[in-house]
Amino acid sequence: MAGEPQSDCLFCKIVSGDIPATIVRESGTTVAFRDINPQAPTHVLVIPKVHYPDAASLAAAEPQIAADVLTEAGAVAADEKIDSTGYRVIFNTGSGAGQTVFHAHAHVLGGRGLQWPPG
Ligand code: 5GP
Ligand code: ZN
Repeated sequence: MAGEPQSDCLFCKIVSGDIPATIVRESGTTVAFRDINPQAPTHVLVIPKVHYPDAASLAAAEPQIAADVLTEAGAVAADEKIDSTGYRVIFNTGSGAGQTVFHAHAHVLGGRGLQWPPG
C-alpha cells in the first residue's frame, strides 16, 4: 500500500530504529537527523515517516505531511541558529539530480556561504 514501510529502504530503517542515526527532531509524522556525509556545518535530513519515493509523490498523496516536512525544516534551521544567516532546503529528485535514497527527504544546509546557482 502507498506509504507503507519498504524492507529495502534505508530511511524506512532509520524511521523504525533498525539503523541508528543522530536524530535532532521528531514529530508525529517526521524525523530529522544529521546527514552521515555532511556538505555544510549544518546538514540535516528531514524525512516523512511514511515511504514515498520523492517529494512530489509525497505531496500528491499526503499534502499535510509534505507541509510537515517543510515546517520541520524551518524548525531545524531555528534550532541550529542558521535561520538568521540563511539556509537552503533541497529535494534532489531523480538520479540525474543526485538523488540516491528513494525515500522523500529534505536536505537542510547552512552554516557557510551557499553558492547560487547550485552545481
Ligand atoms: P540524496 O543524494 O538522495 O539527495 O541524499 C541522500 C543523503 O543521505 C546523502 O546526503 C547521504 O550522505 C545520506 N545518507 C546515506 N546513507 C546514510 C545513513 O546511513 N545515515 C545518514 N544519517 N545519512 C545517510
Ligand atoms: Zn522508505
